[in-house]
Amino acid sequence: MNSINTLLTRLDTFRTRVKINPYLFAFLLLTISMLIQSVLNTYTNQIDYSIFVICIFLTAWYGGFFPCIAATIVGFLLVDYYFIPPLHSILPKKADYVIAIIFLIEGILFGLMGEARIKRETELNKAYEAEQRARKDAEAANRIRDDFISMASHELKTPITSQKLYLQMVQKNVDLNTNPKLARYIRLVSTQTDRIVNLINDLLNVARIRAGKFVMHYTPTTISEVVYDVLQEIAPINTTHNIILKGHNTKSIEIDKERISEVLINLLSNAMKYSPEAEKIMLTITEKNKQVIVSVKDYGIGINKTNQKKLFTRYFRAEGTNEQKYEGFGMGLFIVSEIIRQHKGKIWVKSTEGKGSTFSFSLPIAKKAYQKIS
Ligand code: ADP
Repeated sequence: MNSINTLLTRLDTFRTRVKINPYLFAFLLLTISMLIQSVLNTYTNQIDYSIFVICIFLTAWYGGFFPCIAATIVGFLLVDYYFIPPLHSILPKKADYVIAIIFLIEGILFGLMGEARIKRETELNKAYEAEQRARKDAEAANRIRDDFISMASHELKTPITSQKLYLQMVQKNVDLNTNPKLARYIRLVSTQTDRIVNLINDLLNVARIRAGKFVMHYTPTTISEVVYDVLQEIAPINTTHNIILKGHNTKSIEIDKERISEVLINLLSNAMKYSPEAEKIMLTITEKNKQVIVSVKDYGIGINKTNQKKLFTRYFRAEGTNEQKYEGFGMGLFIVSEIIRQHKGKIWVKSTEGKGSTFSFSLPIAKKAYQKIS
């Protein structure tokens, strides 16, 4: 059964690659059948119909209905007038009609079957080619969009960075205590500038990931150190939530400290953003199976099961979330998951709609640290 399958698959490949005319194919098969039959005839003096039946079947498989009928008729004439004595007789006998009808019925059945199969296969091929074309077009469009985003972000980064620098100089050199209004304006401009800088950085990171140029720089540190630094960094921005830290881990991990800080800042910012009514956020450090695990738990809007599956894909924003209320571009978790992936860690979410979410990630503890302790 397997060898028949292989033969038919090879025949399919042959048809798509060599594209030989089906009538010519039938003619070649019949010639081969005739040669085999001639050789057999010298030994047995008997006709072996099965050779011609196989030949007709293969023609139906290869060429469909009409080539199969042609092969049936020619096959019958060969069998009847060439091999069956009297040789080269052209006057049909009664038995010949029966054989002819059997041959024809068989030919029609094979032909119909072959035709249906070829039709289905052609349709499938067409659908496959259309899909491939659509995929290529989409990829090309994506590439153009990525290139444009990357170029625009690079162009924007320079002026916005110098704008931020000038703002810092104003904050340092102007006595803002004497002018509270000006101080407020400068604070507002500074916040907005930070948002633009963050957006540009996200866009650049996404472009780097897409281009395979998102590189990590690993150094040894501990997760507790990273967590403390991040908590200090976000304290001035966090005016709404009480972040409660539980757990501590000082085993050595080899990480890109800046990128893992970005992961934490992103998860904490999301926890704050998507739990505006809540007051606390739980930040937990644990250890399991030679991995440190960090979890950020909020008591906010939560995420339904369908959306949870797509959270870490590019530009994904959960449907049903009030998009006006919660600003964002759906890049953060995509970048976060890529950072964790490159660290050979894992990221996952547990969430109940209306109750809150827990985002966790794991990072492998450095082998050396483990060997030292055990
Ligand atoms: P952004 O927040 O900028 O839209 P993210 O990639 O950080 O992009 O998040 C993707 C989506 O996941 C968000 O739009 C939001 O719908 C959902 N999400 C992320 N974090 C939370 C959270 N803590 N609670 C509820 N929804 C969240």
